[in-house]
Amino acid sequence: MSKPRIAFLGLGIMGSGMARRLLVNGFPLTVFNRNAEKSKPFAAEGAHIAVSPREAAAQADFIISMVADDVAARSLWLGENGALTAAKPGAVCIECSTVTVNWVSELAAAAAQRKCGFLDAPVTGSKMQAAAGELCFIVGGDSTTLEKVRLVLAAMSKAIVHLGPTGSGSLLKLINNFVCGVQVASLAEAVAMIERSGFDRAKALEILTNGAPGSPLVKAISARMTAPDFTPNFPLRLMAKDLGYAIQEGEKLSVKLVTAKAALDDFLKAIAAGHGEKDIAAVVEPFRKR
Ligand code: NAP
Repeated sequence: MSKPRIAFLGLGIMGSGMARRLLVNGFPLTVFNRNAEKSKPFAAEGAHIAVSPREAAAQADFIISMVADDVAARSLWLGENGALTAAKPGAVCIECSTVTVNWVSELAAAAAQRKCGFLDAPVTGSKMQAAAGELCFIVGGDSTTLEKVRLVLAAMSKAIVHLGPTGSGSLLKLINNFVCGVQVASLAEAVAMIERSGFDRAKALEILTNGAPGSPLVKAISARMTAPDFTPNFPLRLMAKDLGYAIQEGEKLSVKLVTAKAALDDFLKAIAAGHGEKDIAAVVEPFRKR
Protein backbone atom coordinates (compact mmCIF):
# COMPACT_ATOMS: atom_id res chain seq x y z
CA MET A 1 0.00 0.00 0.00
CA SER A 2 1.39 3.44 -0.88
CA LYS A 3 2.19 5.80 1.96
CA PRO A 4 -0.12 8.75 2.66
CA ARG A 5 0.90 12.14 1.27
CA ILE A 6 1.64 14.65 4.00
CA ALA A 7 1.66 18.44 4.07
CA PHE A 8 3.85 19.92 6.80
CA LEU A 9 3.36 23.59 7.71
CA GLY A 10 6.03 25.32 9.80
CA LEU A 11 9.73 24.54 9.60
CA GLY A 12 11.05 26.17 12.78
CA ILE A 13 13.20 24.44 15.38
CA MET A 14 10.61 21.72 16.00
CA GLY A 15 8.89 21.51 12.61
CA SER A 16 12.14 21.10 10.68
CA GLY A 17 13.17 18.10 12.80
CA MET A 18 9.72 16.54 12.57
CA ALA A 19 9.42 17.02 8.80
CA ARG A 20 12.84 15.40 8.30
CA ARG A 21 11.68 12.35 10.25
CA LEU A 22 8.80 11.98 7.79
CA LEU A 23 11.18 12.17 4.83
CA VAL A 24 13.59 9.65 6.36
CA ASN A 25 10.63 7.31 6.87
CA GLY A 26 9.66 7.56 3.20
CA PHE A 27 6.47 9.62 3.41
CA PRO A 28 5.76 11.76 0.33
CA LEU A 29 6.02 15.25 1.79
CA THR A 30 5.12 18.80 0.79
CA VAL A 31 6.38 21.56 3.10
CA PHE A 32 5.47 25.19 3.60
CA ASN A 33 7.13 27.84 5.77
CA ARG A 34 6.29 31.57 5.90
CA ASN A 35 9.97 32.46 5.51
CA ALA A 36 10.74 30.55 2.29
CA GLU A 37 14.47 30.39 3.06
CA LYS A 38 13.80 27.68 5.66
CA SER A 39 12.02 25.50 3.06
CA LYS A 40 14.86 25.50 0.53
CA PRO A 41 17.06 22.74 2.08
CA PHE A 42 14.05 20.40 2.05
CA ALA A 43 13.95 20.33 -1.76
CA ALA A 44 17.33 18.58 -1.88
CA GLU A 45 16.08 16.11 0.72
CA GLY A 46 13.14 15.03 -1.44
CA ALA A 47 10.27 17.26 -0.31
CA HIS A 48 8.04 19.28 -2.60
CA ILE A 49 8.10 22.98 -1.66
CA ALA A 50 4.75 24.77 -1.64
CA VAL A 51 4.32 28.52 -1.96
CA SER A 52 1.25 28.60 0.29
CA PRO A 53 -0.45 26.39 2.89
CA ARG A 54 -3.27 26.05 0.35
CA GLU A 55 -0.93 24.56 -2.26
CA ALA A 56 0.67 22.26 0.35
CA ALA A 57 -2.70 20.95 1.52
CA ALA A 58 -4.38 20.44 -1.85
CA GLN A 59 -3.11 16.88 -2.47
CA ALA A 60 -2.48 15.86 1.12
CA ASP A 61 -4.02 12.97 3.03
CA PHE A 62 -2.75 14.41 6.31
CA ILE A 63 -1.94 18.06 7.08
CA ILE A 64 0.31 18.86 10.05
CA SER A 65 0.94 22.30 11.51
CA MET A 66 3.81 23.14 13.91
CA VAL A 67 3.99 26.90 14.37
CA ALA A 68 4.47 29.48 17.09
CA ASP A 69 1.03 30.27 18.48
CA ASP A 70 -2.72 30.75 17.85
CA VAL A 71 -2.14 33.69 15.49
CA ALA A 72 0.36 31.80 13.35
CA ALA A 73 -1.79 28.67 13.23
CA ARG A 74 -4.91 30.65 12.34
CA SER A 75 -3.18 32.25 9.37
CA LEU A 76 -1.89 28.90 8.10
CA TRP A 77 -5.20 27.05 8.40
CA LEU A 78 -7.85 29.72 7.88
CA GLY A 79 -6.03 32.57 6.10
CA GLU A 80 -6.78 33.63 2.54
CA ASN A 81 -4.43 30.93 1.20
CA GLY A 82 -4.88 28.73 4.24
CA ALA A 83 -4.73 24.94 4.23
CA LEU A 84 -8.45 24.52 4.86
CA THR A 85 -9.32 26.42 1.70
CA ALA A 86 -8.02 23.42 -0.28
CA ALA A 87 -8.00 20.38 2.03
CA LYS A 88 -9.59 17.27 0.49
CA PRO A 89 -12.69 15.83 2.19
CA GLY A 90 -11.46 12.92 4.30
CA ALA A 91 -8.04 14.46 4.93
CA VAL A 92 -6.92 14.62 8.58
CA CYS A 93 -5.74 17.95 10.02
CA ILE A 94 -3.28 17.68 12.91
CA GLU A 95 -2.43 20.72 15.06
CA CYS A 96 0.88 20.00 16.80
CA SER A 97 1.62 23.61 17.85
CA THR A 98 1.23 24.54 21.52
CA VAL A 99 -1.98 26.56 21.29
CA THR A 100 -5.16 27.29 23.24
CA VAL A 101 -8.15 25.00 23.67
CA ASN A 102 -10.39 27.72 22.16
CA TRP A 103 -8.31 27.73 19.01
CA VAL A 104 -8.24 23.96 18.53
CA SER A 105 -12.00 23.80 19.14
CA GLU A 106 -12.58 26.42 16.45
CA LEU A 107 -10.20 24.66 14.10
CA ALA A 108 -11.82 21.26 14.70
CA ALA A 109 -15.20 22.78 13.76
CA ALA A 110 -13.75 24.36 10.62
CA ALA A 111 -12.16 21.03 9.65
CA ALA A 112 -15.47 19.21 10.19
CA GLN A 113 -17.25 21.72 7.92
CA ARG A 114 -14.75 20.77 5.23
CA LYS A 115 -15.45 17.07 5.99
CA CYS A 116 -11.91 16.61 7.31
CA GLY A 117 -10.84 14.82 10.47
CA PHE A 118 -9.02 16.69 13.24
CA LEU A 119 -6.62 15.96 16.08
CA ASP A 120 -4.80 18.26 18.47
CA ALA A 121 -1.45 16.58 18.99
CA PRO A 122 1.05 18.85 20.74
CA VAL A 123 4.36 17.36 21.80
CA THR A 124 6.71 17.09 24.73
CA GLY A 125 10.43 16.93 24.00
CA SER A 126 12.49 19.65 22.39
CA LYS A 127 14.82 20.26 19.45
CA MET A 128 16.92 17.10 19.95
CA GLN A 129 13.91 14.83 20.43
CA ALA A 130 12.22 16.31 17.34
CA ALA A 131 15.31 15.60 15.22
CA ALA A 132 15.68 12.09 16.64
CA GLY A 133 12.00 11.11 16.29
CA GLU A 134 11.69 10.78 20.07
CA LEU A 135 8.87 13.19 20.87
CA CYS A 136 5.80 12.31 22.91
CA PHE A 137 2.46 13.23 21.31
CA ILE A 138 -0.42 14.18 23.63
CA VAL A 139 -3.48 13.62 21.50
CA GLY A 140 -7.01 14.99 21.72
CA GLY A 141 -9.72 13.78 19.33
CA ASP A 142 -11.46 10.54 18.41
CA SER A 143 -9.65 7.22 18.36
CA THR A 144 -10.70 6.31 14.78
CA THR A 145 -8.98 9.43 13.49
CA LEU A 146 -5.91 8.72 15.61
CA GLU A 147 -5.66 5.17 14.23
CA LYS A 148 -5.63 6.59 10.66
CA VAL A 149 -2.56 8.71 11.42
CA ARG A 150 -0.80 6.60 14.05
CA LEU A 151 2.00 5.42 11.73
CA VAL A 152 2.78 9.01 10.75
CA LEU A 153 2.95 10.18 14.37
CA ALA A 154 5.03 7.10 15.22
CA ALA A 155 7.69 8.18 12.70
CA MET A 156 8.24 11.31 14.82
CA SER A 157 7.86 9.94 18.31
CA LYS A 158 8.62 7.39 20.98
CA ALA A 159 5.16 7.68 22.58
CA ILE A 160 1.62 8.59 21.56
CA VAL A 161 -0.79 9.21 24.43
CA HIS A 162 -4.48 9.53 23.56
CA LEU A 163 -5.79 11.67 26.40
CA GLY A 164 -9.40 12.43 25.47
CA PRO A 165 -11.60 14.52 23.18
CA THR A 166 -10.57 17.53 21.07
CA GLY A 167 -8.68 20.09 23.16
CA SER A 168 -7.46 17.69 25.81
CA GLY A 169 -4.00 17.37 24.21
CA SER A 170 -3.64 21.15 24.11
CA LEU A 171 -4.83 21.62 27.68
CA LEU A 172 -2.44 19.03 29.12
CA LYS A 173 0.44 20.45 27.06
CA LEU A 174 -0.19 23.89 28.62
CA ILE A 175 -0.34 22.35 32.10
CA ASN A 176 2.94 20.53 31.36
CA ASN A 177 4.62 23.69 30.12
CA PHE A 178 3.53 25.98 32.91
CA VAL A 179 5.16 23.56 35.35
CA CYS A 180 8.31 23.70 33.16
CA GLY A 181 8.19 27.52 33.09
CA VAL A 182 7.85 27.73 36.87
CA GLN A 183 10.82 25.38 37.34
CA VAL A 184 13.03 27.36 34.97
CA ALA A 185 12.08 30.71 36.54
CA SER A 186 12.78 29.37 40.06
CA LEU A 187 16.09 27.98 38.87
CA ALA A 188 17.05 31.40 37.43
CA GLU A 189 16.37 33.02 40.80
CA ALA A 190 18.32 30.27 42.59
CA VAL A 191 21.31 30.59 40.23
CA ALA A 192 21.39 34.36 40.85
CA MET A 193 21.35 33.80 44.64
CA ILE A 194 24.11 31.20 44.39
CA GLU A 195 26.26 33.46 42.18
CA ARG A 196 25.87 36.44 44.55
CA SER A 197 26.47 34.38 47.66
CA GLY A 198 30.06 33.69 46.70
CA PHE A 199 29.59 29.90 46.87
CA ASP A 200 31.51 27.59 44.58
CA ARG A 201 28.79 27.65 41.91
CA ALA A 202 29.43 24.18 40.49
CA LYS A 203 29.41 22.59 43.95
CA ALA A 204 26.26 24.46 44.99
CA LEU A 205 24.38 23.58 41.80
CA GLU A 206 25.36 19.92 42.14
CA ILE A 207 23.44 19.85 45.42
CA LEU A 208 20.32 21.12 43.61
CA THR A 209 20.62 19.11 40.42
CA ASN A 210 21.46 15.81 42.15
CA GLY A 211 18.87 16.36 44.87
CA ALA A 212 15.09 16.64 45.02
CA PRO A 213 14.81 19.72 42.72
CA GLY A 214 16.94 18.03 40.03
CA SER A 215 14.30 17.31 37.38
CA PRO A 216 15.59 16.51 33.87
CA LEU A 217 14.64 20.08 32.91
CA VAL A 218 16.41 21.69 35.88
CA LYS A 219 19.52 19.60 35.11
CA ALA A 220 19.56 20.60 31.42
CA ILE A 221 18.80 24.29 31.97
CA SER A 222 21.24 24.61 34.86
CA ALA A 223 24.02 23.51 32.50
CA ARG A 224 22.93 26.06 29.88
CA MET A 225 22.66 28.89 32.43
CA THR A 226 26.14 28.28 33.77
CA ALA A 227 27.90 27.64 30.42
CA PRO A 228 26.32 30.11 29.43
CA ASP A 229 24.80 28.72 26.23
CA PHE A 230 21.62 30.38 25.06
CA THR A 231 21.44 28.79 21.58
CA PRO A 232 17.68 28.36 21.25
CA ASN A 233 16.33 24.88 21.86
CA PHE A 234 13.11 26.38 23.14
CA PRO A 235 12.89 30.12 22.38
CA LEU A 236 12.19 32.16 25.51
CA ARG A 237 9.32 34.14 23.88
CA LEU A 238 7.45 30.86 23.35
CA MET A 239 7.63 29.97 27.04
CA ALA A 240 6.07 33.36 27.84
CA LYS A 241 3.32 32.52 25.32
CA ASP A 242 2.71 29.13 26.97
CA LEU A 243 2.55 30.64 30.46
CA GLY A 244 0.03 33.24 29.24
CA TYR A 245 -2.12 30.57 27.58
CA ALA A 246 -1.93 28.33 30.68
CA ILE A 247 -3.07 31.21 32.91
CA GLN A 248 -6.09 31.72 30.61
CA GLU A 249 -6.94 28.00 30.71
CA GLY A 250 -6.56 28.00 34.51
CA GLU A 251 -9.05 30.88 34.77
CA LYS A 252 -11.56 28.88 32.70
CA LEU A 253 -11.27 26.07 35.27
CA SER A 254 -11.30 28.54 38.22
CA VAL A 255 -7.71 27.70 39.14
CA LYS A 256 -5.51 30.75 39.74
CA LEU A 257 -2.04 29.93 38.44
CA VAL A 258 -0.20 32.14 40.92
CA THR A 259 3.19 30.51 40.30
CA ALA A 260 2.72 30.70 36.52
CA LYS A 261 1.99 34.44 36.82
CA ALA A 262 5.19 35.00 38.81
CA ALA A 263 7.18 32.95 36.29
CA LEU A 264 5.60 34.89 33.40
CA ASP A 265 6.83 38.14 35.01
CA ASP A 266 10.38 36.74 34.95
CA PHE A 267 10.08 35.72 31.28
CA LEU A 268 8.56 39.08 30.28
CA LYS A 269 11.43 40.89 31.99
CA ALA A 270 13.89 38.79 30.00
CA ILE A 271 12.03 39.58 26.76
CA ALA A 272 12.08 43.31 27.61
CA ALA A 273 15.84 43.01 28.13
CA GLY A 274 16.23 41.61 24.58
CA HIS A 275 16.44 37.86 25.30
CA GLY A 276 13.20 36.72 23.61
CA GLU A 277 14.86 34.88 20.72
CA LYS A 278 17.34 33.08 22.98
CA ASP A 279 16.84 29.80 24.79
CA ILE A 280 14.61 29.79 27.90
CA ALA A 281 17.81 29.49 29.97
CA ALA A 282 18.44 33.19 29.26
CA VAL A 283 15.68 34.03 31.77
CA VAL A 284 18.57 34.11 34.27
CA GLU A 285 20.23 37.11 32.60
CA PRO A 286 18.15 39.96 34.14
CA PHE A 287 18.80 38.46 37.59
CA ARG A 288 22.54 38.69 36.99
CA LYS A 289 22.38 42.48 36.54
CA ARG A 290 22.78 44.58 39.70
P1 NAP B 1 10.26 28.47 16.08
O1 NAP B 1 11.56 27.84 15.78
O2 NAP B 1 10.23 29.87 16.54
O3 NAP B 1 9.33 28.31 14.79
C1 NAP B 1 8.11 28.97 14.73
C2 NAP B 1 7.41 28.63 13.44
O4 NAP B 1 6.16 29.35 13.39
C3 NAP B 1 8.20 29.05 12.18
O5 NAP B 1 7.93 28.14 11.15
C4 NAP B 1 7.58 30.42 11.89
O6 NAP B 1 7.71 30.83 10.54
C5 NAP B 1 6.13 30.13 12.19
N1 NAP B 1 5.36 31.37 12.40
C6 NAP B 1 5.46 32.24 13.43
N2 NAP B 1 4.57 33.24 13.30
C7 NAP B 1 3.90 33.00 12.13
C8 NAP B 1 2.84 33.65 11.45
N3 NAP B 1 2.27 34.77 11.95
N4 NAP B 1 2.39 33.12 10.29
C9 NAP B 1 2.94 31.97 9.79
N5 NAP B 1 3.94 31.29 10.39
C10 NAP B 1 4.41 31.80 11.56
O7 NAP B 1 9.46 27.63 17.20
P2 NAP B 1 9.51 26.08 17.55
O8 NAP B 1 10.42 25.90 18.72
O9 NAP B 1 9.69 25.26 16.33
O10 NAP B 1 8.03 25.89 18.13
C11 NAP B 1 6.93 25.57 17.29
C12 NAP B 1 5.77 25.17 18.22
O11 NAP B 1 6.15 24.04 19.00
C13 NAP B 1 5.37 26.25 19.22
O12 NAP B 1 3.97 26.21 19.42
C14 NAP B 1 6.10 25.82 20.50
O13 NAP B 1 5.49 26.34 21.67
C15 NAP B 1 6.00 24.31 20.39
N6 NAP B 1 7.04 23.54 21.07
C16 NAP B 1 8.35 23.93 21.06
C17 NAP B 1 9.30 23.14 21.70
C18 NAP B 1 10.76 23.51 21.71
O14 NAP B 1 11.48 22.98 22.58
N7 NAP B 1 11.25 24.37 20.81
C19 NAP B 1 8.91 21.96 22.34
C20 NAP B 1 7.57 21.56 22.31
C21 NAP B 1 6.64 22.36 21.67
P3 NAP B 1 8.97 31.76 10.09
O15 NAP B 1 10.12 30.83 9.96
O16 NAP B 1 8.50 32.36 8.83
O17 NAP B 1 9.16 32.79 11.20
